[in-house]
Amino acid sequence: MTNVLPLQRPKKPPEQNEDEQARAKRLAAKYRDASASDIIKMAVHEEFIDRIAMVSSFGAESAVLLKLVADIEPNIPVVFLETGKHFAQTLSYRNNLATALGLTNIVNVTPKEQEIEAEDPRGDLWRSDTDACCSLRKVRPLDHALEGFDAWFTGRKQFHGGARLRLPVVEWSGQHFKVNPIADWDREKVTQFAADHDLPAHPLVAQGFPSIGCWPCTHPVAEGDDVRAGRWRGQAKTECGIHSRS
Ligand code: SF4
Repeated sequence: MTNVLPLQRPKKPPEQNEDEQARAKRLAAKYRDASASDIIKMAVHEEFIDRIAMVSSFGAESAVLLKLVADIEPNIPVVFLETGKHFAQTLSYRNNLATALGLTNIVNVTPKEQEIEAEDPRGDLWRSDTDACCSLRKVRPLDHALEGFDAWFTGRKQFHGGARLRLPVVEWSGQHFKVNPIADWDREKVTQFAADHDLPAHPLVAQGFPSIGCWPCTHPVAEGDDVRAGRWRGQAKTECGIHSRS
C-alpha cells in the first residue's frame, strides 16, 4: 500500500469561453444517460488524464464503484481518509478489498500531527464539535491530498436523499470537478451489481450498518430507515463536509 501521490500531467486546456462551471454542466448533460463505465472512461481517458483520483471510505457500498474503476484503471490513486476513528473492520476491509480488486495505489491520508496536538489532543473533539472534528480529520486532509488533481470520483447516489437527490454526473465544487458515475443507481442496482460480481461485503453491514463512517458517529439503523440515518444520529449534521464546501 503506497502513501505517495503521483505527478500529474498538465491540465487539459479549456474549450473557448468555457469556465469550470460550464464545463461541468456540459459534461453532466452529455453523460447523463451514459453507463457508469463510460463515465469513468471519459474521466480517466479523455477529460482528466492522470489528473483524477478516487476518494473512498471503504464503507458499506464502496465496493461497487471501486470495482468499476479498478476494471478500467487499477493504478488510479484511491484516497482513504485515515481519520484515526475508523472501525477496525473498515481497515481490514480496505486491505482485503484493494487486494481482491487489484487496486495498486491506495493512499492513506492522515491529519497533520501538529493540528491534532493543537485542536484535539485528547482525541474526543467529536463529543463536543463534530464539524470541527470532521474539518480536522477529513476536510483539510482531503484538500491537501487533492492538490494537483483536477477531479475526483465519488460514489454518492441520489437515492441517499438530502442534498444528494439531484446529484449530477459531473459537478464543479469551486476547487475540483467531482465525477459521480453511479449517481442514478438505486439500492437494487447496487445490490445486484455486488451480487453479480461476488463483491465482498463490509463486515458491519450484516450487523445493521447500511452506511459506515467513523465509529463515534455511526450507528446501526432499523429496517426501512434511511440509509444514512445512523450517521451523526441526533444531530442536524448529515454530511462530513467534504462534499459541502466550495
Ligand atoms: S465522522 Fe465523527 S469522528 Fe469522524 S471526523 Fe467526523 S466528527 Fe470526527
